[in-house]
Amino acid sequence: MIDTAIIGTVALDSIKTPFGEVKEALGGSASYSSIAASFFSKPGIMSIIGKDFPKEHIEFFRKRGVSTEGIVTGEKTFKWQGYYEFDMNEAKTLNTELNSLLSYKVMVPESYRNAKYIFLANIDPELQLEAIKSMKSPELVVMDTMNFWIEHKKNELLETIRHADVLIFNDGEARQLFKTPNLLEAANKALKLVKRAVIIKKGEHGALLFNGNKHFSAPGYPLENIKDPTGCGDCFGGGFTGYLAKHKSTDDAAMRKAIVYGSVIASYNAEGFGTERLRQITHEDIEKRYREMKDIRDF
Ligand code: AMP
Repeated sequence: MIDTAIIGTVALDSIKTPFGEVKEALGGSASYSSIAASFFSKPGIMSIIGKDFPKEHIEFFRKRGVSTEGIVTGEKTFKWQGYYEFDMNEAKTLNTELNSLLSYKVMVPESYRNAKYIFLANIDPELQLEAIKSMKSPELVVMDTMNFWIEHKKNELLETIRHADVLIFNDGEARQLFKTPNLLEAANKALKLVKRAVIIKKGEHGALLFNGNKHFSAPGYPLENIKDPTGCGDCFGGGFTGYLAKHKSTDDAAMRKAIVYGSVIASYNAEGFGTERLRQITHEDIEKRYREMKDIRDF
């Protein structure tokens, strides 16, 4: 039985940054977020791969305690190609090959149906909505998105937001979706749609939580060694949801801690290419950086 159901992409990523490059490495929003969630909870992925998807990645998920029962196989795996310049906060997409994602119908295994925590990682918002509707009685639905879906499926995206409890997006996407340069205004507009809370990620500068009439500002971790920030947003969302699932709590205090844990895992992720760093870190590493984050904002 899993406790955190995650829908998103399982991809083969080709990434170039000023510090190196990788070709067709394990990537995708569901991959990063489920690995991050697995530090706290028992996640299960719902996604589609192709016949070309290397079996060793499935083995890796299983070894991490990530259920792959909800992954179906189509023709060709989703592929994403991107690069970063010296401003590592912004990924530039070179190519998105949706491939089998175009024919994907959400399949929720029986062992996922009772999961109380749902993370809708970045994927077509219509699929995100289908996933919510397929779950029995979720307690917390957290959703993420990106500019691609704001540009291609804005109305469907707004409809899915209405069914989510927490919306996570980055500052650029918040401005783009709500057509305003002002982040507070964007958050207030989002709060009118989403059921409980809005989180705006500000890349290396931290994240803001808007929860009814309360605000929380989490610091960014000052990283000396950034190699590849791909997947940081997904690690943040997966870590956030996994932490809440572990503590079976969704109150304001738990959400604040969950944001810091999500940020900690995201900061480690940026230190290596692809999922490299996530494969090395331990619970002790996570706790150490969590304590440093506490210290950073103590005044
Ligand atoms: P992040 O850096 O956290 O925003 O997410 C990066 C991951 O998102 C990469 O591993 C990509 O495979 C995946 N990705 C890129 N474009 C899309 C898209 N349009 N829908 C879903 N996932 C995507």
